[in-house]
Amino acid sequence: MACDPSTSLDRVIDEWLGTSLDCSCGRRHEVTTRSVVRDRRGEILAADLAGREAGRPRWILVCCDANTQTVAAQLVAALGCRGFDPSVVPLPASPDELPVPDEATLDALHEAGGAFGCDLLIGVGSGTVNDVCKAAATRLSIEYIAYATAASMNGYTSTVAALKRGGLKVTDPVEAPTAVYYDPNVIAHAPQELAAAGFADLLSKYVCHADWHLAHAILGEHYCPRLGALSAQAVDTAVADTSSDEYVSGTTPPNLMSALLLSGMVMAMAGSSSPASGGEHLISHFWDMTRPGSGGRRWHGSQVGIGVLITSALYERLRQMDRPNQTPRPGVPDHATGHPTAIVGRSTLTWDELQAGLRACFGHTSESVIDQARQKFLSPDQRVARVARIADRWDTIWEDLRPMLKSTDELRALLQRVGAPVTVGELGLDTRAAIDALEWARHLRARYTVLDFAADVGAFTPEDREAVLEASGVLS
Ligand SMILES: [Zn+2]
Ligand SMILES: [Zn+2]
Repeated sequence: MACDPSTSLDRVIDEWLGTSLDCSCGRRHEVTTRSVVRDRRGEILAADLAGREAGRPRWILVCCDANTQTVAAQLVAALGCRGFDPSVVPLPASPDELPVPDEATLDALHEAGGAFGCDLLIGVGSGTVNDVCKAAATRLSIEYIAYATAASMNGYTSTVAALKRGGLKVTDPVEAPTAVYYDPNVIAHAPQELAAAGFADLLSKYVCHADWHLAHAILGEHYCPRLGALSAQAVDTAVADTSSDEYVSGTTPPNLMSALLLSGMVMAMAGSSSPASGGEHLISHFWDMTRPGSGGRRWHGSQVGIGVLITSALYERLRQMDRPNQTPRPGVPDHATGHPTAIVGRSTLTWDELQAGLRACFGHTSESVIDQARQKFLSPDQRVARVARIADRWDTIWEDLRPMLKSTDELRALLQRVGAPVTVGELGLDTRAAIDALEWARHLRARYTVLDFAADVGAFTPEDREAVLEASGVLS
């Protein structure tokens, strides 16, 4: 009998729910989310809560946004039938904008939860609702259950919340939901661009898996092959589904939701977002910070999809390079700038120059970016050591990365097949936004990605970046 990928993904999810494992990678991997349930109109969730012997909630707060109020009303009705009287808090947003996951939104929810004395928070929605609810429930030390309404991102089951603090995009550690419920009918008929965004977010796992491995090979950071394989299984299954008719007919394939849930669980198991967030996510965060604005095409996943094409093209360019063979000579002035450089012939910014550039690029949010950038800035001596280490491992690095990566053309074709944007113009962004992102996004986080790798090997000059953007196709 042919293997049913949906069944196999769901079986993997079931195996991991509520378990922990002492892995051969040396870490303990834990999933605190205990159940994932397909639930028409919230009736199973209401019944489950009513049937609890211990931990039965006394006061429930249901959080939603303008787009999920109808689904929230169905859930509230189902809860009412079971004797609960939940309060509903819609996240504040202006009429044509989506709610922003910032401190003000979080404070409003935190206050509402505290004021009602609630002991269970249910988030009805997708990205922002889920991020803000996870963070608020963690602050209030109460239980959180996600009621998912779209297969638009992979954060439902993760232990991080993507928030905006002081203008900087941050991922705070939070408690995962104890359970995720979703109505398959609601997911299937969510706006098609949300499913396309979810698929693009998932597609990033090819490049960010490679970034995660790079950080391991070059910096010695923790990496787990088992989690890397799980992440690959999730994305491979979703990719196999793109040949089905569902995307064409505007519905969401059931596998996409399962794949996103598994991807979120991998982050929870790793204890960080590294398996699911690399340079392509930094590019998306960069646009959130420097070109804010919502609107249909600016979903997190849509932006990440463009970031995937850019970082994939960068990988392809780097793969064609020879092992770095410049003679590193620290302290030798660069002819153009007169500053000491690590690699002869390649201009490297000094710390003062980098700070000035970050201030010009990020404005009032630059201080928090500078804090991150400082953590990975290298002195000339450190740069020499870094290049030597990379040169030493060059062949092994590419041997390891080759099976993880897909070609940029293939990734672009997949994005197009599901109706996701493939150019910055489709996001309402211009060429300058792409150029700036490629130059500056890597400084947003201390995390090592292919953007840093390119800089380390001296392949990140303006000419290099221009060629990468050209090859990525995102400007056309
Ligand atoms: Zn492991
Ligand atoms: Zn993402």
